Amino acid sequence: MEEKDMIYASLPAVLLPWYAQNARDLPWRADREPYHIWISEIMLQQTRVEAVREYYIRFLHALPSIEDLAFVEENRLLKLWEGLGYYTRARNLQKAAREIVHQWGGVFPQEYAHIRALPGIGPYTAGAIASICFEQPVPAVDGNVLRVAARLTDDHTPVQLPQMKADISQRLAQVYPAQSCGAFTQALMELGATVCTPKSPKCGDCPARAICLARQNGTAAGLPVRLPKREKREEDITVLLLQCGDAYALGRRKEDGLLAGMWELPNVPGILTAQQAAAAAEDMGAQPERILSETHRTHVFTHVRWEMTCFHMLCAGKCERWIWAELPHIQREFSIPTAFRMFLDIL
Ligand code: SF4
Repeated sequence: MEEKDMIYASLPAVLLPWYAQNARDLPWRADREPYHIWISEIMLQQTRVEAVREYYIRFLHALPSIEDLAFVEENRLLKLWEGLGYYTRARNLQKAAREIVHQWGGVFPQEYAHIRALPGIGPYTAGAIASICFEQPVPAVDGNVLRVAARLTDDHTPVQLPQMKADISQRLAQVYPAQSCGAFTQALMELGATVCTPKSPKCGDCPARAICLARQNGTAAGLPVRLPKREKREEDITVLLLQCGDAYALGRRKEDGLLAGMWELPNVPGILTAQQAAAAAEDMGAQPERILSETHRTHVFTHVRWEMTCFHMLCAGKCERWIWAELPHIQREFSIPTAFRMFLDIL
């Protein structure tokens, strides 16, 4: 048996007792209900565990069943998601919930292939649900698991290359322990999240320290190897915070592209002067009377950085092009992405 295979083969015996002793108490670990695990895994993509706790509890309190999610009004769903970002995830949750209701009679499918076929569910989430909820030997390889595996085997293949993930998934699948598949998936994730952390792995506390090649070779800090990041595209946006009386103008974004279909403050591309911004507001049918303030902010998405200038303008009338709502109503009823909400927050 080659060294790599031996390391993988010994993982269940090394990690399961450690996980049983050290698992964090997280709300989505209270049961193995697939609806709960699914929601938590989607929320945990791109968001820290501590931030997800509160969202998770609130979401399930509002939508306790797959049927509730399938039929909730979209605005309410997006409001529950507000602050988590990447709103496509929330829309896909609803699409998948509808599919589960219509195709599977409201019962979450158990087969990996059926889970994977649901909208918004990739190999990682499907693996997490199949192993944690249905005890199937299917790995869930995310960034944490990639890092742990690269270090354990001192593998310097760049993690972005698909063959790296394929190799790890295939090797892990062969060593999944029957009856403890869910615990093994969670143990791997937990090790990456709490011990084998990106910047300073706590090798002295690690249950796998005796078998870890990166620890032996002193290479842990440099692993996993990453290909250089692509530069983010930069876009300039001028936001028009139009106020008439106590109401503010809101519009809907296009149904495709970044923040598709979300509510937004009126805006135009480019950096405008105050005078140009007032002219742009007039072109949109508003009647700007006075500019109250000018604010600059940067908002960073995965591939794009928005450099934003916001002009807060007092207007004489409410043009029909926009929906006008007062601040408490906006905060209660409208789901507005952070990129725009931050200008309302400073009012
Ligand atoms: Fe990570 Fe260190 Fe444990 Fe190796 S010994 S798996 S590098 S924490």
